[in-house]
Parts: sequence; structure tokens; C-alpha cells
Amino acid sequence: MITTVCRDCDTVAATASAEGAACSACGSARMVRHPELGVLTIAHLDCDAFYASVEQRDDPSLRGKPLIVGGRTRGVVLAASYEARRFGVRSAMPMFKALADCPDAVVVRPDMEKYRQAGAVVRRLMREAAPLVEPLSIDEAFLDLAGTAEPPAVAMARLARRIEAEVGITVSIGLSCNKFLAKIASDLDKPRGFAVIGRQEAGAFLAPRPVGLIWGVGPAMQLRLAQDGIVTIGDLQQRTAQDLTARYGRFGERLARFAFGRDERRVVPEREVKSVSAETTFDVNLDLLDPLKRALWRLCKRVAARLTDRGMAAGTVTLKLKRHDFRILTRSRTVDGRLQSAVDIYAIALRLLEPEVDGTRYRLIGVGVSGISMRQDGGEPDLFAAAEAAAP
Ligand SMILES: [Mg+2]
Repeated sequence: MITTVCRDCDTVAATASAEGAACSACGSARMVRHPELGVLTIAHLDCDAFYASVEQRDDPSLRGKPLIVGGRTRGVVLAASYEARRFGVRSAMPMFKALADCPDAVVVRPDMEKYRQAGAVVRRLMREAAPLVEPLSIDEAFLDLAGTAEPPAVAMARLARRIEAEVGITVSIGLSCNKFLAKIASDLDKPRGFAVIGRQEAGAFLAPRPVGLIWGVGPAMQLRLAQDGIVTIGDLQQRTAQDLTARYGRFGERLARFAFGRDERRVVPEREVKSVSAETTFDVNLDLLDPLKRALWRLCKRVAARLTDRGMAAGTVTLKLKRHDFRILTRSRTVDGRLQSAVDIYAIALRLLEPEVDGTRYRLIGVGVSGISMRQDGGEPDLFAAAEAAAP
């Protein structure tokens, strides 16, 4: 039974070397040790500060500096380098707050196309390393390594090194017996981490942690649980499954299982995607057609790129506008065809936009597509070809 793997040279050992001991083969200190290492097959891989890392990769002058990827004043932080995180900057934080906390941060405008390309290479490397890969977003995925020729920990260590060498960014890995625990593990040792949570220790590991860690427990559920005296996962462990089910219905069953780290969800390659959207908040409110059109075109290109990446097409286009008074309006149109190209999505979105340009000042524009299906042909994006391919 394997209990130790060197992350730098893949040397495996059946007997655990002393905690902190270096690799006997290559001298590396980056050793993964766990008694269940030989039987854990579910991994979660998460790129470290993805957008910021790609920017630091491409511009050496940004390395080692607090870096924020986002808009200038409006909008939110999309990614923060680890140097910026030291000042408390977090993604999704309002930009003005991030700059107040970290005034020396370098702000870089997002280049989604570049991130998409880097993410696509990461995804390809993951698919070469594992038989089942379930992407969760541009920079993270679950991998099911059951059936790989080499031990899963070796496959993941090798994958992390390949991503460093071929993409030029670092990743963190969580290895466990299921998705719930693997995702928690990948967050334990960031950046460039490799953490393991075994089946045996799951209950004790989870007990002191907040219930919000459980998949599906959002702020509203946390509040309800807190009113019932349940704050930590350990509080849940004290309750019987019957009690939890009586109180919270089917969700209670899930709470009872997750409290002890039991999660039967499988790794499903290519999550079923129901919609794809992109939006942007302006630095200054816009009321003229031309700048709104330019913003819309950029968003349509992003949406189309994501559809193309996944080999998908859409039937409905939705335009979203947020007015200066924060009121949101949406306009949709469903067409008799399979949309994939930016040009086709834009043509429809523009027809939805034009009547709304009446002097109203807008602070945000977004475009989304839904009614998604897999493209049958996998060829060049083309509305009519796609419609034909989709015909019975
Ligand atoms: Mg990430």
C-alpha cells in the first residue's frame, strides 16, 4: 500500500517516512504522506489566482507584486495575486474597497481570451491525465482517477508539474474519496499545494468547521440552521438523520450524509450547461448606442467562445441592462436555429438593445444564451449548418 509520494520525482514508498523527511531519491521536501494514499481516487484541481497568475506569467514586471485583475473603479475584483491577498484583497470584492486596502496594487484589465486559451490547455492536460474530468469553471475541475495506470497521487503530481511547465501557472490539488472532501482539500494548502483528506479522518476533520462548508448550504440555510443551534458541522453530527430529515426534508438527508463526509456524487464529464452569459459594468454610465454596441460585441464574442469551446449551440439570446437607478431589465428572443457564432448572437442582441437606447443611462450590460444543445457536427460555427445538423 502506497503511503508516500514525492511530488517532484514521483518516487513512491509503502512505508511512511518520518514527517518532514526529504525524498530519499531526489531530496525534494515536497512529499505527500497519507495512510490512505493508495485508495483515494477523486481529485479536485484548482488553478492558483488564475487570471492574476496568467498576467504575471506574461509580464515578468508584475511578478512578486500585488496585482488585481478587474475594472478601474467600478465593478469587482476578478482575481488577486497572492501578494495582493496579503492585504485582504479577495475576488468579488468591490474594486474601490480593494484599492483602499491595497493602494499600491497594480490593476490590470481582464483579457478573457487569454485566460480562455490558458484554461483550454489546462483542460486538455487534465483529460490526458485522467479518464473522467468534470470542469467546474475555467480554472477548476474534478478528476476521477480510478483506473489510471499509476497511483492517483502520482498522476496528479505529474499533472501539476506539466501544467507548470506547459502553461506557466501553478495549481493546487485536493485528493480524497469523494468530490465534497476533494474540493475542501484543494483549498487547504494553496498555492502550489497538495492536500489529502482520508475517509477515516473525515468526520473529525469536518466537526469544527462551519456548516456553510457543506455543498448547497448557502446564507439562508446557514441562518435557519443557526436558529436551530447548528453552527458547526459537529453540531450536525450530534443530530440523527431522522431528526434532520424531519426538520429540513430531503435536504436534511444530505446534511446527515455530508456531515460525516459521505458524498455519492459521481464525476460527470462535461457538466450539463443550461446557459452561458457575460456582463460588464461600465466605468461611467452609458446612454449612447455606439459605446453600448461596442460593449455588447465584446460580450457576444466571449459568450460565443465559451459555446464553441464546449461544442455547444443555443436557441435563445437574452439581453440584460442595469439602469442608473439599479433597476434591471431583460429582453429575450428565441430563434429557429442553433446559434453559436458571435456575429449571430450579436445580431439578435443588437435588435433587443436598440429600442432600449432612449436616453436612459445604463451602468451594466450583459448578454446570455440559453436553450443549449450540443453541436452535432463539430465543424466551423455556422448558423445554417448547425440548424441542418440539428434537424431530425
Ligand atoms: Mg482558482
